[in-house]
Amino acid sequence: MRAEDYIALEDRYNAHNYKPLDVVLNRGEGVWVWDVEGKRYLDCLSSYSALNQGHNHPRIRQAMMEQAAKLTLTGRAFRNDQLPLLAKEMCELTGYEMVLPMNTGAEAVETALKAARKWGYQVKGVPDGRAEIIVCAGNFHGRTITIVGFSTEEQYKEGFGPFTPGFITVPFGDAEALEAAITPRTVAFMVEPIQGEGGVIVPPDGYLRRGREICDNHNILLIADEIQTGLGRTGKFFGCDWEDVRPDVVVVGKALSGGLYPVSAVLADRSVLGLFNPGDHGSTFGGNPLGAAVAREALSVLVDEGLIDNAQVQGEYLVGRLQRLESDYIAEVRGRGLLVGVDLKPEARGARRFAEALKDEGVLCKETHENVLRFAPPLVITREDVDWALERIEKALTEL
Ligand SMILES: *Cc1c(COP(=O)(O)O)cnc(C)c1O
Repeated sequence: MRAEDYIALEDRYNAHNYKPLDVVLNRGEGVWVWDVEGKRYLDCLSSYSALNQGHNHPRIRQAMMEQAAKLTLTGRAFRNDQLPLLAKEMCELTGYEMVLPMNTGAEAVETALKAARKWGYQVKGVPDGRAEIIVCAGNFHGRTITIVGFSTEEQYKEGFGPFTPGFITVPFGDAEALEAAITPRTVAFMVEPIQGEGGVIVPPDGYLRRGREICDNHNILLIADEIQTGLGRTGKFFGCDWEDVRPDVVVVGKALSGGLYPVSAVLADRSVLGLFNPGDHGSTFGGNPLGAAVAREALSVLVDEGLIDNAQVQGEYLVGRLQRLESDYIAEVRGRGLLVGVDLKPEARGARRFAEALKDEGVLCKETHENVLRFAPPLVITREDVDWALERIEKALTEL
């Protein structure tokens, strides 16, 4: 079958909740992917940062195949020999006391929200049913009804109400607005260290630190959604590490499995996650031995291969080159590590046409919001590969 045949099938039989670029991939290795006609592309999206370790990482693949041949699913009705090791390794790596495993990012966010509400009632003493959680305008935390209910993106909500009450929105990057929104019923403030889907928005320096202080002063949990910014993407283990901030609750997903399998988790100390009792919360696949074995290997690959430092080094180089690029279309280049956004001026007429032109040149990236091109290649990228991509990006941004 040819690419257009797959596209026609997908368009006929799949719900159209995405508008993918017309490239049909069937193989990947490291930063490279190949389409069904054998053309090679450099993946500059990494499946929204789920592929930090690169496509088809040999060690993670091996761990997955070995575990798949032994045991894949027990449910949490029984125990398995991988989940305890994953939990221990994650806690040792991050300094938290406990882990609660889920599968997708949205589920882990929901879990963090449940944990915060429970903490609010049981520890802080908020009257039952009255807890408030503060979130930021421009957030992206997933697609469940509760989560889209506190999105400020109208399209994410339209037609999906009614929504879960108890969420208050404040502008992102504005610590004073956060403090002003706090009431005696506030239990948590949830924030992305950098808003990824929101357009790679980096908050002002000191924002997270100030947010931490405010949460401490008002006895509120700080929840960091590190699903996109965590696990090395920004050049530190967590995005919050840039300000030496330790959130009370951290949500991880995406690259936790290196892109081989959906694995997400909530990390926190016993004072929060210890509040869950048997039966309070669960997931059939959460904590399964296949996912746990994959995540264990994916985490050690991040560390063993120095991918976090590499993200910092290559990211600085990429941002520097993009910032020096003389293009009439670029309004701003921003980002940290290998989470980079190129904000285009109105005269660029949208980011989508650049993503499409870059696809033809062999670089895969995606627009986020009308006017931002996001570049977030796997963290295994080499300087040579960055140069390869830059040559094409520079051409598209100057000649198109
Ligand atoms: C991708 C993402 C999510 C949702 O993860 P899913 O696995 O798609 O449910 C939540 N928060 C952030 C910051 C994300 O980037």
